[in-house]
Amino acid sequence: DQGRPKAPVPTDRPAHVKRVLAVASGKGGVGKSTVSVNLAAALAARGLSVGVLDADVYGPSLPTMLGISGQPAYEDGAMVPHVAHGLKAMSVGLLTKAEDAMIWRGPMASQAINQMLTQTRWGTEEQPLDVLVVDLPPGTGDVQLTLIQKTPLDGAVIVSTPQEVALADARRAHALFAKVDVPTLGLIENMSGEVFGTGGVQAEAGRLGAPYLGDLPLDGALRRAGDAGRPLVAVDPQHPASERFHHIAAQV
Ligand code: ADP
Repeated sequence: DQGRPKAPVPTDRPAHVKRVLAVASGKGGVGKSTVSVNLAAALAARGLSVGVLDADVYGPSLPTMLGISGQPAYEDGAMVPHVAHGLKAMSVGLLTKAEDAMIWRGPMASQAINQMLTQTRWGTEEQPLDVLVVDLPPGTGDVQLTLIQKTPLDGAVIVSTPQEVALADARRAHALFAKVDVPTLGLIENMSGEVFGTGGVQAEAGRLGAPYLGDLPLDGALRRAGDAGRPLVAVDPQHPASERFHHIAAQV
């Protein structure tokens, strides 16, 4: 499409949303979506009104993790988010076939995400949304850069597992946010324990001068709850893994 004028991507803030928080990871499969939904549920448990936007064009998992399906309803020209476990939710997986979204490049992905941001009724004048948690696509390439440039983010949380190969990607994710002046609110170590190690993310946060928010052990209950569409924090708020999320939510 060389020569054709490019339509500017709108970067408007979503209406009636007080804070937009990104959850990012340098790598796929490290638990970014698990953290997104459980952190959202933990923020809701603190009395905040919370939404989750699944922007992971490579593998939208929010519909599975929150147990929602079907296109959102339209009302007065806006999309009405599903509500699950007290969270308002919108996913690229509800609007597009996964195979289509996978091959999107940066501008296409950011346009779709911008639409979900600005054309979803997240809040109203009387009842604004306190926090919108955005589950970003994993990685630190062009798609991610375009996305975070075009999305009005107030801060980012980076999820990593403790091994060196994952840390290198977390480092790149941190650098990407720094490049566009989005503050890193902190790093989270997921799948902490014997299998992948312990302490790597905290050490990395120290090297980066970024806050360290805590660790989450590899825990079957977390996985089962996610697969069942019932975030652990929402269905078992006293579970030890849920307690970790409450601790993290208190810091962001
Ligand atoms: P990502 O969004 O980074 O691709 P997911 O959140 O989809 O990762 O997690 C990948 C898989 O690992 C899912 O099946 C999820 O339930 C599981 N998982 C994530 N974190 C944990 C954990 N701390 N303990 C057990 N299973 C986990």
